[in-house]
Amino acid sequence: MTQTQTTAPGHVPTGLFIGGAWREGTGGGRIDVLNPATDEVVAEVADGTPDDAIAACDAAEAAQPGWAATPPRERAEILRACWETMIDHTDELAELIVREQGKPLADARGEIAYSAEFFRWNSEETVRIRGEIGRAPSGNNQIIVHHPPVGVVLMITPWNFPAAMITRKLAPALGAGNAVVIKPPKETPLTALRVVELMAEAGVPDGVINVVPTSTSGDWFDAAVDHRAVRMLSFTGSTEVGRVLLRRASDRVLKTVMELGGNAPFVVFDDADIDAAVEGAMVAKMRHSAETCTAANRFYVEAGVVDEFAEKFTAAMAAVKVGNGLDEGVGCGPMINKGAVEDIDGLVRGAVTEGASVLLGGEPLPGAGCFYPTTVLRDVSHDSSIARAEIFGPVAPIISFTDHDEMIRQANDTEMGLIGYVYTRDLAKGLRTSERIQAGMIGLNRGAVSDPAAPFGGMKQSGLGREGSTDGIYEFCETQYIAASW
Ligand code: NAD
Repeated sequence: MTQTQTTAPGHVPTGLFIGGAWREGTGGGRIDVLNPATDEVVAEVADGTPDDAIAACDAAEAAQPGWAATPPRERAEILRACWETMIDHTDELAELIVREQGKPLADARGEIAYSAEFFRWNSEETVRIRGEIGRAPSGNNQIIVHHPPVGVVLMITPWNFPAAMITRKLAPALGAGNAVVIKPPKETPLTALRVVELMAEAGVPDGVINVVPTSTSGDWFDAAVDHRAVRMLSFTGSTEVGRVLLRRASDRVLKTVMELGGNAPFVVFDDADIDAAVEGAMVAKMRHSAETCTAANRFYVEAGVVDEFAEKFTAAMAAVKVGNGLDEGVGCGPMINKGAVEDIDGLVRGAVTEGASVLLGGEPLPGAGCFYPTTVLRDVSHDSSIARAEIFGPVAPIISFTDHDEMIRQANDTEMGLIGYVYTRDLAKGLRTSERIQAGMIGLNRGAVSDPAAPFGGMKQSGLGREGSTDGIYEFCETQYIAASW
């Protein structure tokens, strides 16, 4: 690995990482990475061009056969070393995330633990990729099924988890024996670059991971997707962009895994432990400054407990300190940029026009940075635009319900199906309700579900495929069947 590029604070690399070497983009441009808490430029990162995307795919193509041929145990040991090095660098990586993304330091530390765990989990899965052998029903031959790596994988990731949305793909892809090309988001490329630098130091061979940030993602993707070696697209981001990429990936019939947007219902029945429901609601709404695909987006609360829930939840939201994620005690950092604040403000204003009452917050905070206060809305109509949109900010709309079937109908009345939450003391009712909610994941009396050992992903337009669990590594494998006689 050669290192010639300029560095950001803490000696974070700011070049493109292609074929194990750091280089400038062929266009010579740079992308400003902004701190959303202060509006200051944290660093300037090399701006990759379509030619750079192709160079990265070439490097991955060259590295692919050697990596695929590396014994699984050796690949597993390298992944395990990646887990160790990420954990060893928790403080540094967490601070970097806060500087470019804004989330509170405690959340950033949690993200590093979660991100690193994908390496440990997949190091264990790497040596357990199974095949099958069985006699054909005719008795004439044997049916052998095995799972070779899919080939070069393009990975495109969002800014809300600058580390985890990369490692959740990268660890299983590498474990399965693939080389990859990553396009991190232009808002948060620094964490991606530092993580892959650590991975190279941990023993990932040159060319197996390539990272090319860009400010022109459409052109970048158009070039990369047509590269002959690319066999798969793994994308995490909005449903809107996911649709565009799926359409384009179909030109080459690429294998795809899509982790897309959410619009999670959070259901509180009148027999729930309300204090536990409020605690879970705070986790489901506010973790990572409420900028998560799993964020509770619509709170359906049964009429008999809506006053108590609204009062306690509003008090908990009011107690959250909004500010720079590096400051002591901050529970909600800035939004990613001014545009995000404007979008949230527009949704809140629209909800108020449509009849919602504001229990807390409701106005963007003045001054530097991209801050929006914790906000609770009541008397929100299921048909209002805020209940239809993915809010991606610290705003909680409460919708009261009386009829269970109608509540389920409303909870499912969205094209999204990533996650739902249910609170009740009646486990049978909780399980029945969970089964009726059309979502890939359910938190039953829990505000957090993410776990590298569990399948993460959505139904409906929230995605295709799963990340994590024992399924995750097979997403990055082909299936080959050999009809054999001997
Ligand atoms: P986004 O869709 O705007 O961007 C995601 C990535 O796609 C970024 O790297 C972006 O640069 C890139 N991109 C945008 N247009 C592109 C194009 N034409 N060609 C190629 N790449 C392109 O999403 P975002 O704002 O970064 O992230 C927020 C969204 O991501 C939310 O909808 C959230 O729910 C979703 N998300 C989903 C999951 C999940 O696991 N389901 C996890 C995190 C975030």
